[in-house]
Amino acid sequence: MSGSDAEKDERSDAGDPVCWLHRLCPTCGAMPTDDPAAPPDRCWRCGEPFAEG
Ligand SMILES: [Zn+2]
Repeated sequence: MSGSDAEKDERSDAGDPVCWLHRLCPTCGAMPTDDPAAPPDRCWRCGEPFAEG
């Protein structure tokens, strides 16, 4: 095993903040949630509509 291999494994971790950084609510900064009760087209915390597309 080489050092580069370990680095690759680290990058594949599902914790990269850049992946969801653009999905943060621009109004309150809430992170996206997997809560099925949360509205899919607006912020689950402040109700700000998402401007996607
Ligand atoms: Zn919000």
